[in-house]
Amino acid sequence: MTEIIDGNAVAADVRAAIADRVETLTDAGSRPGLATVLMSDDPASETYVSMKQRDCEEVGIEGIHIEVDPEAPADELYATIDELNDDDSVHGILVQLPVPDHVDEREVLRRIDPEKDVDGFHPENVGRLVAGHARFKPCTPHGVLKLLEAHDVETEGADAVIVGRSDIVGKPMANLLIQKAPQGNATVTVCHSRTEDLAAHTRNADIVIAAVGVPEFIDGSMIREGATVIDVGVNRIETDDGEGTELVGDVEYDSAADVAGAITPVPGGVGPMTRAMLLYNTVKAASLQTGVEIEL
Ligand code: NDP
Repeated sequence: MTEIIDGNAVAADVRAAIADRVETLTDAGSRPGLATVLMSDDPASETYVSMKQRDCEEVGIEGIHIEVDPEAPADELYATIDELNDDDSVHGILVQLPVPDHVDEREVLRRIDPEKDVDGFHPENVGRLVAGHARFKPCTPHGVLKLLEAHDVETEGADAVIVGRSDIVGKPMANLLIQKAPQGNATVTVCHSRTEDLAAHTRNADIVIAAVGVPEFIDGSMIREGATVIDVGVNRIETDDGEGTELVGDVEYDSAADVAGAITPVPGGVGPMTRAMLLYNTVKAASLQTGVEIEL
């Protein structure tokens, strides 16, 4: 029987634990605050940000949302970040990516105070992660680790193959899985568009993590019997009847589920975990900045 890894259920547990920590911090006069900044009129980005704000509300985090006109000069976004850096009630800052072309994304990431960088994309935080003493683990790969942990998927000694080498998913995922402790100790292979014979790699894997951005790219023939399959992909495609759209992952779910030992669905797998880990990082940021100790 293939185990379906239920991201909604694990994320609900994470949120419940977070709500408890938020209460502790709030009682100590340090209610965590998360600022989201949107400089885009892309409907998907708008949806992501509003879901993040809703999550904040649910667990008691103070959500602040700022919109910057996508046509405005880059300096307006930089000034907004500077103000949030200086605001003691804001413990976490998230600038929804992508930003418009005339804005330097790397400058945006560098500009956020690394102690408030709850996405974990600031170069200082990337360096800390690679060095094995992460301050904030990026939300998506951190969420994947939590899912593996919640479903007792052993990473120690496992062959893990990650398909995708982006800065937000593939690379930090690899860095987390090769860490010695507390979770990790996997033997990690990172594949990408220049990988030769990708299927030979994925077929060898105990754990396959797909972060490709190509709908249903990995099918059952590329999976070893009993492997754990984590599908990070979120792709909106036309339905077969051409009358609407649906969300699919980077894994062809039915054929992969036939051979996998465990698999995440899309939607309802990694997505909710990404959102939950943002709340986790915000609470951690608030604790670090206020000195109110909580167990995480
Ligand atoms: P990117 O486009 O930044 O990276 C995709 C990676 O896949 C690249 O490294 C690319 O290789 C590789 N790739 C593309 N085509 C192929 C191919 N034919 N063969 C092998 N490798 C290939 O995507 P992201 O990492 O940002 O996102 C990946 C997916 O995860 C997307 O579907 C995205 O929507 C989803 N996502 C989901 C999240 C969630 O919370 N569930 C959060 C973030 C992303 P190369 O580097 O050589 O170009």
